[in-house]
Amino acid sequence: MNALIENWRTGFHIDRKVEVSIVVPLYNEHEVITMMHERLTAVLISLGVCYELVLVDDGSRDGTPHMMNSLAKKDPCVTAVFLSRNFGKEAALTAGLEHATGKAVIIMDADLQDPPELIPQMLKAWKDGADVVCMRRRSRAGETWFKRYSAHQFYRVLNAISDVDIPADTGDFRLLSRKAVDMLKQLNERNRYMKGLFAWIGLPTTVIEYDRMPRAAGTTKWDYLSLFNLAFQGITSFSTVPLRIAMGVGLLTALFGVLFTLWIVIKTLVLGDPVQGYPSLISMITILGGAQLLSIGLLGEYIGKTYYEAKQRPVYLVRDVVSRRQAARAAASANAEAQTAATAAAAAAVAAAAATTAKASTAGTKSYATYK
Ligand code: UDP
Ligand code: MG
Repeated sequence: MNALIENWRTGFHIDRKVEVSIVVPLYNEHEVITMMHERLTAVLISLGVCYELVLVDDGSRDGTPHMMNSLAKKDPCVTAVFLSRNFGKEAALTAGLEHATGKAVIIMDADLQDPPELIPQMLKAWKDGADVVCMRRRSRAGETWFKRYSAHQFYRVLNAISDVDIPADTGDFRLLSRKAVDMLKQLNERNRYMKGLFAWIGLPTTVIEYDRMPRAAGTTKWDYLSLFNLAFQGITSFSTVPLRIAMGVGLLTALFGVLFTLWIVIKTLVLGDPVQGYPSLISMITILGGAQLLSIGLLGEYIGKTYYEAKQRPVYLVRDVVSRRQAARAAASANAEAQTAATAAAAAAVAAAAATTAKASTAGTKSYATYK
């Protein structure tokens, strides 16, 4: 009986077009992967649609790849994509989007902080016409006060200085229509700040609020330094305002320098008060040197970005893909191709035989004519 159900399920998911793809990036998530698969499967089966789970292993060093491999071999709805090393979450998401085939694609974290039970609500918003359904965090349980506060402020700053409007307090948890995914695939930049790219494409967007859960198991992969890097990446990828600020600070310092020099000249010549040199000189040199190095560093950041873009390296490399659905489809299309080739060969043989007969009869006629 179980085998019958399994056969029906396999056939159902292999023959139909995928309606919903769920993309999940995983980096050292062996503690949570089984739980995540069970909860997602329960929700998706209850929807009664053809779905796929695109699990992307971002170069994990624990049991994650092994567990993903067995899931993909067992469950025809799982496509396991293995990257050749750890490329970071943004690259893993890009890989997931490129392997997803559904009409709607939902991105979520592996740790169940984004509850799978919200999927029906997201699909409803998509069916109602939204191309992007953003999930905004109403609350963030299990995260420190500082993380919540800094994340909140970061989105405000980014929105104020960039030319895209990134909805505040939204993470990567969202639904994208096929149209949105195809548009994203056209953006082939190497510095990928996904939240910015999602916003950059535009399209009708619906925002749904939810309560972010604490991690189901395992530990966070982000420390404050990597979060700061991501924030800096976000700002420098979507705005050149920091360069303009550096120029503004430079201008103000130069103006201050001119005024200060004038003051020294007046003080020496008019008031007859010789300038006490050393302390003022040292403080000026330090301030100016600091401002200059900071500006050069900032400039270097942008030049560095151009350098990486110029290399045109791929965003990620795939080591392997395991998918029963894809394997079955490839086999079916190879079969169909072989059948077409066989039919063509048979048709060619019939045509050749007909041509030979025609030739023989012409020859026959000729010889008859000659005989006559
Ligand atoms: N992740 C990834 N590559 C990385 C770091 C993280 O694919 O280099 C994945 C991780 O497995 C998880 C998601 O990104 O599914 C979010 O990571 P995490 O939960 O550690 O971040 P937090 O929720 O604490 O911000
Ligand atoms: Mg998390």
